[in-house]
Amino acid sequence: MAPVATVTAITSDPASLKSDLPTLRPTSIIHRTPWRPPVATHGEGIYLDLEDGRRVIDAVGGAAVACIGTNHPKVIQAIKDQLDRLPYVYSMQLSSEPAEKLAEMLIQSGNGAFELCGIVSGGSEAMEGVLKLAKQYYDELGQPQRTNFIARKLSYHGNTVATLSLAHHPGRRGPYEGILDRNNFHHVSPAYAARFQLPNETEEQYVQKLAQELEDKFRELGPDTVIGFVAETVSGATIGACGAPKGYFAAMKAICHKYGALFILDEVMCGMGRMGTLHAWESVGDGASPDIQAVAKGLGGGYASIGAVLMSKTVAEGIRGKSGFWKHGHTYQSHPLACAASVAVQEIITSENLLENCRNQGAYLSKLLRKRLQSPNALSAPYVFDIRGAGLFWGIEFDFESPQAAQLDMKGRQFAMVAQARLLEKGLIVMGFTGGSNLEGTKGNHILLSPAYNVTQEEIEKIVDIFVEAIEEVIKENLV
Ligand code: PLP
Repeated sequence: MAPVATVTAITSDPASLKSDLPTLRPTSIIHRTPWRPPVATHGEGIYLDLEDGRRVIDAVGGAAVACIGTNHPKVIQAIKDQLDRLPYVYSMQLSSEPAEKLAEMLIQSGNGAFELCGIVSGGSEAMEGVLKLAKQYYDELGQPQRTNFIARKLSYHGNTVATLSLAHHPGRRGPYEGILDRNNFHHVSPAYAARFQLPNETEEQYVQKLAQELEDKFRELGPDTVIGFVAETVSGATIGACGAPKGYFAAMKAICHKYGALFILDEVMCGMGRMGTLHAWESVGDGASPDIQAVAKGLGGGYASIGAVLMSKTVAEGIRGKSGFWKHGHTYQSHPLACAASVAVQEIITSENLLENCRNQGAYLSKLLRKRLQSPNALSAPYVFDIRGAGLFWGIEFDFESPQAAQLDMKGRQFAMVAQARLLEKGLIVMGFTGGSNLEGTKGNHILLSPAYNVTQEEIEKIVDIFVEAIEEVIKENLV
């Protein structure tokens, strides 16, 4: 295997740290702009080869998508076989074998939690479909006055107008504020204990406070106007890999059901194995199964563009009793090639025992990160605010607002982006986030690591070596 090479396509010039947020960030994947992403030509496991012959490690699976790495021969064969047989049918007219098989697998995966499943083209469409399904459900139940959704501050649910309205990601909402819906979408505090649990507050009291806030919001809006509460089981794009305290999801579900509303989970990023269990709510969500759930990224593992909406028996029976079908019809829904790819990905996760590897390598990754970044003599220690996650979904949050950060000549807001660029130069792809979480002074400065579930221990060590080296380098360059 070729050695991991240095990539110099984008700059991590520390001088850029001293200016305000650049208008064009390294994450702006827009062609024909001054910054053009390196071109990848080939993939093998977690390695990606670039046009100029260099090889990099993908430590974040694209956008927490590539859960079994690239180039798995069984998935490629499954797509080819399906292509030979039947590339496309329109799901409003016909179903296909892989669509039926995938739907069956997804329903079974909930161990009784799910009864129906709709297959769509990605995460945003899944969440858009979730909103429509929930509204349809109450209309058909004879409760059309239910028009309000309650989501959380610092959330991300997709990039369409409705999902941006639902979510609360200031950076991504920004350009579209003027056309976002403010009437039907409301927000309560996130579960973000590292920042917002008070020093004199127990975990139980913190959960109780958040539950009370949700209940107050129901009362303020009028409980019979609320369709449901929507949350990422584990936050990704806004508060990297931030799960909720024990008891939180059980409490939120209980309040939803107390007022006859739906409990809805967005597992687009954290689901389908990423947390070491197929559904995140099984392990880190109090086992609180949702009434409706969206999944996407790990479903197709990047081999195809796909997402799904999973419905509980209650919701399924609600729509079965009236219209009889979910009123959502996109041209590429239940695409046979995407379904064939996803069936193969899910079979590989089971047959190669990848959930167990995900848990084991995740535990190893977190141990190494903590040891290397937070040990008392580590240069990074004063600036690493939190290392959190489970399975292979880890967020490293930085804090440059603290008194210790005074000796650094950087505002900190851009640290994650500059570190991301430096990491790419060193041959490691990560996802850096800034500006998504500016709630009450938090800067949302974090880096996400989410490698494929079949990553090896050696690869984890390599990832951490490069990661730590780059972080320390960028900090060192900015010490005054
Ligand atoms: N929901 C969550 C929690 C996500 O993290 C994302 C994407 O990152 C989406 C929805 C939107 O998914 P997609 O980018 O596939 O449209």
